[in-house]
Amino acid sequence: MFERMTENVRRQRLAQDLDAPPDDDRRTSPLLAGSLLACSVVLGTIALSPGASFEGLQRLVARTVPWVEEPTGSYAFMQTQDDGRPVTYPPCEPVRVALNPAGAPADHEELLSTGLRTVSEATGLRFERVGTTTANDITWRGYGAPPPVLVRWADAEEVPELAGDVAGIGGSTATSHHGLLRYVTGKVVLDRDAYDGPDPLEGNQRQAIVDHELAHLVGLAHVEDRGELMNAENTGRTSFGPGDLAGLAQLGRTDC
Ligand SMILES: [Zn+2]
Repeated sequence: MFERMTENVRRQRLAQDLDAPPDDDRRTSPLLAGSLLACSVVLGTIALSPGASFEGLQRLVARTVPWVEEPTGSYAFMQTQDDGRPVTYPPCEPVRVALNPAGAPADHEELLSTGLRTVSEATGLRFERVGTTTANDITWRGYGAPPPVLVRWADAEEVPELAGDVAGIGGSTATSHHGLLRYVTGKVVLDRDAYDGPDPLEGNQRQAIVDHELAHLVGLAHVEDRGELMNAENTGRTSFGPGDLAGLAQLGRTDC
């Protein structure tokens, strides 16, 4: 549920957009002007305790984000181990992913398969599609096999974190295994209104939001650098930047 512009404002912005210099690659789509559409995170957690839910753990996230700046861009991790290495999924086994297709846009299959392929190529992590599900959320009490990662579309009535300008949320939950935190499952929820509402995302922006949330899923956090896709706001960028790619590569280099 993101802000609606009046038709007049929208036309003005379209006109401004057409007037912009053609080489201005930072200009935003007229429908995404201002702070419209990006993402809030996030579900990264400390070790899962019995009975804990994703919702209850979200508040733990903000304080575990180291920020790294390098000449090639910047990246940050959702969580790190005591030695500074990032927390992610074990690279030696596939990350299982289930889709709930209810309310998903017509192009959802292409969006998801492209996003998984892009993040897999950037990290080295492998994803395994395990079919569809009717689950709307993931609850895991810390024993037995964790459920697969859930990908779905929803609106802000169902998922309040999607209220306002938020186009998606994504993150994972970790458990401690021989002293190392590792992600065991997670979820990505895309805003139905952003994809199928009256002013839907268009073109590469549709894929960019999915890619951004999948990067959260495997452990990448927001950065302030506007040259990265992991900026919390939509800057007009539609593909991973140099820092994003450097961070994603590190996420694939952890121990099994
Ligand atoms: Zn985000």
